[in-house]
Amino acid sequence: MHALAELLALLAPPACAACRAPLAATGPLLCLACTRALPWLRAPGCPRCGLPRHRRGGCPAAGAAFALAWAPLAYDGAARELVRALKFRGALPVAGLMAAQVAAGLPPALRGVDAVVPVPAHPGRRRRRGFDPAGLLAARLAARLGLPVAACLSRGGGRRQVGAGARQRRDPRRLAVVARGAPPRRALLVDDVHTTGATLDACARALAAGGSGWIVAVTYARTL
Ligand SMILES: [Zn+2]
Ligand SMILES: [Zn+2]
Repeated sequence: MHALAELLALLAPPACAACRAPLAATGPLLCLACTRALPWLRAPGCPRCGLPRHRRGGCPAAGAAFALAWAPLAYDGAARELVRALKFRGALPVAGLMAAQVAAGLPPALRGVDAVVPVPAHPGRRRRRGFDPAGLLAARLAARLGLPVAACLSRGGGRRQVGAGARQRRDPRRLAVVARGAPPRRALLVDDVHTTGATLDACARALAAGGSGWIVAVTYARTL
């Protein structure tokens, strides 16, 4: 799939990665209209959950194992199309564009970390796609920030979790994530989209259990 997507990209004329309008020449991945339509989250939102606003006391990340979460864009319009282009059409250069947009606006509070940790893909999904979108975004972002990548998390693969009650094991929101080796002391978790925060929280819990003392989360886009 990966090789096929690359082959198709070579054969196809240059097109906008979001709306697929033809582009005059190779160069920017996005057309001018999509660039202008990117749904930036400009106002300083809630530092814990990354939402632009919510009820006081209604922070969905109030009990999360990550300290801060941030995304430059809403998961909407051209930003959603870019995520889809990377995930489902294998438009790998899009990861570099996303990383540039994340790095450009990354708040100082999220910069003081030792390594970038990608949210792990489901093993089956990685096999089917031939690549891992979050891993690719994390690698491009780490390169921009001059940080190492610590791919120390993996999905538990449906193994029984020690200590989890029967009800928790049946809960599909409960994700089995484990940290291998010694995770970075200060970790920057990276995923493509922050939806409920359950995945980021499961990853942050695994990092904390492995010894990380400061965990912050960055995604390209935030579901509002
Ligand atoms: Zn476009
Ligand atoms: Zn919040």
